[in-house]
Amino acid sequence: MKIPDSKIPLAGANIRDIAKTFELAGFDSYDPARILLHYYRHKNADIDAIDCYPKKLRQLLKEVYSTDLLQPLFHEKSSDGTEKWLFRTTEGYPFETAWIPDQNRQTICLSTQSGCKFGCKFCMTGSLGFQAQLSAFEILSQLLAIDKPITHVVFMGMGEPLDNYDILSHVIEILTAHWGFSLAARYITVSTVGVLPTLERLGQELTCNIAISLHSPFPDQRAEIIPAERRYPIKDIIAVLEKVEFKRKRRLSFEYLLINGYNDSKEHAAALGSLISHLPAHVNLIPYNYIPGKPYKTTSLKDAETFRQELNKYGLRVTIRKSRGYDISAACGMMAGRSASTHQ
Ligand code: SF4
Repeated sequence: MKIPDSKIPLAGANIRDIAKTFELAGFDSYDPARILLHYYRHKNADIDAIDCYPKKLRQLLKEVYSTDLLQPLFHEKSSDGTEKWLFRTTEGYPFETAWIPDQNRQTICLSTQSGCKFGCKFCMTGSLGFQAQLSAFEILSQLLAIDKPITHVVFMGMGEPLDNYDILSHVIEILTAHWGFSLAARYITVSTVGVLPTLERLGQELTCNIAISLHSPFPDQRAEIIPAERRYPIKDIIAVLEKVEFKRKRRLSFEYLLINGYNDSKEHAAALGSLISHLPAHVNLIPYNYIPGKPYKTTSLKDAETFRQELNKYGLRVTIRKSRGYDISAACGMMAGRSASTHQ
């Protein structure tokens, strides 16, 4: 076979890519899963260590594929154990990754874009504007390069995952495949403001959890803080979710940032309860993490508890989420925002 001029990143390859390479070089009697298991699940980048492949095949794989990863440029660790890393794309655009340990659960929060087009008013990433879509290599580099134990994956980092859907679904295939990371889809959550065409595809084509950023049950107010509401109204988002099967542990959640004096009244709780109580949904209440330069303030835990009790009247399961990593650049986009001024 013709060896490509520059090597292809192995991070991002799926079993069909490897099978094609084997076929073109006349090695189709060998199992293409071996190299992917070795690299993804066992996190071993030494192709020579795959001794069930003949030497000639290992040589070919080293000529065609690169096992190099993007490496983080900056790292912060919070007193609560949360860690954050700053990466740059191959073109130099910044993006972040967070790792959140919590008893038996270790969650990685992945970015799918550098910046974001959607401009949500409470969001630091939204203030940066859109810079780049991340490739499968750039998304998987986050997971492989930080070298941490991971039980759960959430796509809640920089960017709107459903605005990069083809790459997202490609990465989720690698995360869940028996030849990939073998992570059950119920341990993977995609968070979105509700990009309708790809939300529909996510609901039908994949079985991972869906988290909708709701933040207000009132369309006009939601549109103030999530401009995408004008294009993708919450009533249409709910109509799409009504058609998705949430069974076999697939979970639907609504994320609700509690902003003091803005969206944390009893009327908001009652309207939210009426809007979503017919869905098999969980509500995550997140007291707003103050971001310098934004006009929003945090709801107290006492008021969050009152809001929760109001929602419980509608039969909804509700969790008040702890804010993690308060003493580091906790809000998504803060690290990248600081580094953007140095982007070449
Ligand atoms: S909340 Fe999500 S969709 Fe909105 S601006 Fe931030 S990253 Fe983009």
